[in-house]
Amino acid sequence: MLIEKYDLQVLTPPCDPGAERFAAKARLVVDIREVLPYLNATLRGAVYFPDAGAEYSAPALTWKKAGHNVAFHPYEIAVSNAVDRDSAQKELDGLIALVNRTWERHAEITPSFEVRRRPTLMEVYKLLPQTNCKQCGQPTCFTFALKLTASQTRIEDCPPLFESQYADRLAALQAIVIDAPAIE
Ligand code: SF4
Repeated sequence: MLIEKYDLQVLTPPCDPGAERFAAKARLVVDIREVLPYLNATLRGAVYFPDAGAEYSAPALTWKKAGHNVAFHPYEIAVSNAVDRDSAQKELDGLIALVNRTWERHAEITPSFEVRRRPTLMEVYKLLPQTNCKQCGQPTCFTFALKLTASQTRIEDCPPLFESQYADRLAALQAIVIDAPAIE
């Protein structure tokens, strides 16, 4: 097992003192940087930041999971939006199990060093039908674009996009949008 123990740190986000949601960190005693390309290969919606080669730079991988922003660093895993200490610990336990599982089967996985970027809001919005039909459950296409950009909804939630007249837009969106991750 790669990660056997960690120190839990739960804190109020520095940008939001007094908030009712918390950020949490698992401080690790092992370096997990070698796992990051394997997580990049297997986690939908992950964004990989390779080691830039500068003296103080280090690789990192970010991921959105069911309303949480997750960041994997060489000696740390951070998660946002925890309701309390217990839920923070549960989330981090799940993420550590994910890292351990990925490392245990890394010989079967082709690592990915691909650096993806999230599309901008306007790049996404311009490719939507822009009819504000509300079939997606959102009040406007702009709101849908906001959620799609943040990986909080999926392309499939916009039925009109699958009409033949929007085939080109659909293909373009599928090429740039990082899907909402599956909830584990
Ligand atoms: S279903 Fe598609 S076209 Fe209709 S409002 Fe939502 S994003 Fe716009």
